Amino acid sequence: MPNILVTGGAGYIGSHACKVLAANGFTPVTYDNLVTGWQEAVKFGPFEQGDLSDTARLDAVFKDYAPIAVMHFAALSQVGESMTDPGLYWRNNVGGSLNLIEAATRAGCLNFVFSSTCATYGEQDGVTLDETSLQLPINAYGASKRAIEDILKNFEESHGLSHVIFRYFNVAGADPEGEVGEFHQPETHLIPLILDAIAGRREKLTIYGTDYDTPDGTCIRDYVHVMDLVDAHVKGLNWLLEGKGSQIFNLGTGKGFSVREVLDSSRIITNKPVPYEEGLRRPGDCTKLVSGSVRARDQLGWTPDRSNLETMIADAWRWHQSGHYSK
Ligand code: UDP
Repeated sequence: MPNILVTGGAGYIGSHACKVLAANGFTPVTYDNLVTGWQEAVKFGPFEQGDLSDTARLDAVFKDYAPIAVMHFAALSQVGESMTDPGLYWRNNVGGSLNLIEAATRAGCLNFVFSSTCATYGEQDGVTLDETSLQLPINAYGASKRAIEDILKNFEESHGLSHVIFRYFNVAGADPEGEVGEFHQPETHLIPLILDAIAGRREKLTIYGTDYDTPDGTCIRDYVHVMDLVDAHVKGLNWLLEGKGSQIFNLGTGKGFSVREVLDSSRIITNKPVPYEEGLRRPGDCTKLVSGSVRARDQLGWTPDRSNLETMIADAWRWHQSGHYSK
């Protein structure tokens, strides 16, 4: 089976991607430094522990496995942290990605699938966010991802690097078969934090800001099920392998939910109260991020069937109750 190099394959989205790659006839080779990932999550192919700063190691892995493509998930992804320590984001995300892109082109591996983000769009009131929208990030996380998109474009011109860029909206849920799931330490994402509060693993959830210009005052996001998201990645990989060339796809459903709506759904689905308090805004948060695009549906034939709030929360809750990784 052809090898695909999966950076961040021990992380949340990367581990789900490895599962579907293996189910679709590929061998996922995980390259991960285990700073935020979990070795236990590497279940579907070989594991190579390494850092993106280690160019010699990257060259050796490309030589040993001769992957036909790269899926690049490895990144720091916390908006709040990126505002307090932007250097970390530029060094790790941009510097690390540049090393990886250079190693890939040195090895002649010219198919590249990249995890970007809707945070590259920033705050754009009343604008439908599609792939042609301006990219005006308001946090260092989004800025670091936009920079990597630029690097990919440059390497396409200089080295013929074909790339699919996926701009994720908010990823949620877990593998319904329970083999892998979401587990960050510390956790910063809304749905797992709500489930922690419900289960008594934390005292309460803090709603970050109730004075936004939205119907209920809380931020609005477009949530996508992780299984739908990784399904798009296999479609994007095949798109590249069929020689269709570089393309950018938003991965969102087009429907937005406020923090309060997610909280209410979680209470209904788990049938348990959610302890919460109303707090201050978190620096770097956009008011509303909802995809306005149908390109992935039209061009990739993507159908995000699991991406409704009920299924995402139910799958996340099942995983949340069944266990976690440990170092
Ligand atoms: N959020 C919140 N309390 C938390 C964590 C998140 O109110 O403890 C809000 C956050 O302000 C944002 C939404 O939930 O509006 C989603 O945040 P998350 O960190 O999950 O993803 P992001 O949109 O930052 O990528």
